Amino acid sequence: MPKSSATTPPAILHIAVATPVADGFDYLPGTDIPGSPLPGCRIRVPFGHQKTVGVLIENLTKSSIATSKLKTTLELIDQTPVLTAELLNLAKWASLYYQHPLGEVIHTMLPAALRQGKTASPKATQRWQARTGEQRVANLSRAPRQQLLFQAIASATDGLSENQLNEKFEAWRPIVLQLEKKGLLQKMEEPIISHARRSAPRQGSIQLNAEQQEIVSRINAETDRFQTWLIEGITGSGKTEVYLHLIQQTLERGKQCLVLVPEIGLTPQLLDRFSSCLDVPVLTWHSALTDQQRHQIWYAASIGQADVIIGTRSAAFLPLLRPGLIIIDEEHDNSLKQQDGFRYHARDLAIVRAQQLAIPVVLGSATPSLESLHNAAQQRYRLLQLHQRAGGAQPPRVALLDIHNAKANEAISNSMLEAIASHLEQGSQVLLFLNRRGFAPVLLCGNCSWKSECPRCDAHMTLHRHDQRIRCHHCGHQQIKPQKCPVCSATDLQPIGIGTEQLEQVLQSRFPNRSVLRIDRDTVRRKGTLEKHLATARAGDADILLGTQMLAKGHHFPNVTLVGVLGIDQALFSADFRGPEYMAQLIVQVAGRAGRAERKGEVLIETRQPQHPLLRLLVSEGYPAFAQAALAERKEAGLPPYSYLILVRAEAVSPNTALDFLDQLAKQLNADTPAEVQLLGPMPAPMERRAGRFRAQLLLQSVQRASLHFTTQRLREMAHRLPQQRKVRWSIDVDPMEML
Ligand code: ADP
Ligand code: ZN
Ligand code: ZN
Repeated sequence: MPKSSATTPPAILHIAVATPVADGFDYLPGTDIPGSPLPGCRIRVPFGHQKTVGVLIENLTKSSIATSKLKTTLELIDQTPVLTAELLNLAKWASLYYQHPLGEVIHTMLPAALRQGKTASPKATQRWQARTGEQRVANLSRAPRQQLLFQAIASATDGLSENQLNEKFEAWRPIVLQLEKKGLLQKMEEPIISHARRSAPRQGSIQLNAEQQEIVSRINAETDRFQTWLIEGITGSGKTEVYLHLIQQTLERGKQCLVLVPEIGLTPQLLDRFSSCLDVPVLTWHSALTDQQRHQIWYAASIGQADVIIGTRSAAFLPLLRPGLIIIDEEHDNSLKQQDGFRYHARDLAIVRAQQLAIPVVLGSATPSLESLHNAAQQRYRLLQLHQRAGGAQPPRVALLDIHNAKANEAISNSMLEAIASHLEQGSQVLLFLNRRGFAPVLLCGNCSWKSECPRCDAHMTLHRHDQRIRCHHCGHQQIKPQKCPVCSATDLQPIGIGTEQLEQVLQSRFPNRSVLRIDRDTVRRKGTLEKHLATARAGDADILLGTQMLAKGHHFPNVTLVGVLGIDQALFSADFRGPEYMAQLIVQVAGRAGRAERKGEVLIETRQPQHPLLRLLVSEGYPAFAQAALAERKEAGLPPYSYLILVRAEAVSPNTALDFLDQLAKQLNADTPAEVQLLGPMPAPMERRAGRFRAQLLLQSVQRASLHFTTQRLREMAHRLPQQRKVRWSIDVDPMEML
């Protein structure tokens, strides 16, 4: 009998590392790791020639790789997991569903500080306040820098924090230390919750109307389990008020609320409303935060300090100690889908998460996505509707303006101008929507027909008059506007088509005594300008507001009675099958800006296609009727939500490389793809060349998700083995929202 053969094999740690090549790697535990650490803990490991921070997925008893070939971990960073079992499960689900490497999924979930291996509990932000001591202050007159800083800190009521000092002064730290040494300043640690937004509390509470009350009661009757609710409520019907009541009641039950919104920068008003109506601090999560702030908010959420968090899509990954409710506002909005790297949809992910957590999730929109409406029709979501505007305002009257006889280069039709004049005369504001910034989308040579094409894209460069440049809106390439044609030297270069910059000029010259305020990415570049412009607009200090979709979202302009919509025809014939859906959602959102107060609003939509059936339906019967018809068309064509899509994109610097790569893949796949999965393509992308790269795509379609995912998984493995893959950038987009 062999002696002591029962030596246990060395434990193996299966660790996720952020890399595209595999989900996880096996390591031998370093000497600092006794027993089995908990999954979700971070471990520093050697990787290639570097060291990196990985996350433990599971403890294994053996590896498929010989022990002699395994590397040993360097350091166990956490004793308690930074990724809870729940988040780790979510990561695993997302990695499978989106066919994205687990390590990269986890990398996206964690804030930068944690990815870098910093301790889970963040360093508190420091703040300095003045101590009183006038005698010694007098001594500062010979140290002007010290005096300046001291005065700044002393004159701020609560002193100044590191962040505030960073904004105001350079190289302030040594000086503050000197002041501290002299006993003039006192250092304090700022509580994390100080990032929270606070607004003056709202006077009195709003009494919900019957429809709103009904919704709140129904959701509140089932707070102890998972359920997806879809609130379809026309703009101004009081959805936000419903959210606030639901949150208030969730807080009373001692739970946390997570609210996902498409873009925070565009909705400062929404934040003010949340913080003034709720008794608790409201934390916000978005891309403009510093790494340190993210770290602090992540931590606050994980220890249950943050009661309400409003955030953009990546907030879907925030840890919650006492989860109670997830709300997804504007659930139809495409900004909820990540368009590169790990291409997840925050709405869909949040629903899966709510299911894991056994809590309700509430989706809201005036224009729900066709997917969500279909899910409601299939009883997967429960549909709740708000039909009336809250607070007595009436829905606007919507009509089409037939401009098919208008001249090609006319910025705005006469009928629209007349309507504007009449609303202005009644003392109202007017809002014009044109989703194209710049002066004109093309510059054309009247002599030889040269066009301002982007050298790097299959696209035109837009003329921007204010700085005399032409710019590509796809790749950012720009150059000075040519004085003469680069081909034939003629000086007859004409701007073709209309952008917001030109519309602004036309309106200004047509209404010289009125103020015109343009809001688009070009006019709000500087920090704070958007909020300033929106405040001006809201106060009624501009007669005519004009802008891109920045103006469409969620704003409340009480004096606007006319909304004019220009330039939508392109969307009707978009290469993307979702074009009409997006157009309808945008029109309804913009239209919702009209007549939010007492005066009835009017919405006029310019089109050369007044007979377009979907457009007519939208105008005559509204979004629900449009959605039903659009769904019927999708069903007929077998498109989502009646089938599922996965888009494989590839791009390369030389022509045909990407196409060849996808061709190889399709050939290999075709050999034994299940019959219920269709391969469409490969084909060049609708915009084949972009930013100097040639792009191609392969579409996988099926009515059966399981087969589709199985095929995609095989495709992914094959792609990694193809020799051509080194020459292309390729990606898998599950449930693509844009086909371009
Ligand atoms: P939505 O989010 O659906 O666009 P809001 O919640 O912003 O609608 O409500 C639109 C306006 O109506 C807001 O000014 C809001 O304060 C007001 N409002 C909402 N509910 C009520 C109510 N029950 N009674 C009176 N006013 C209300
Ligand atoms: Zn020319
Ligand atoms: Zn370009």
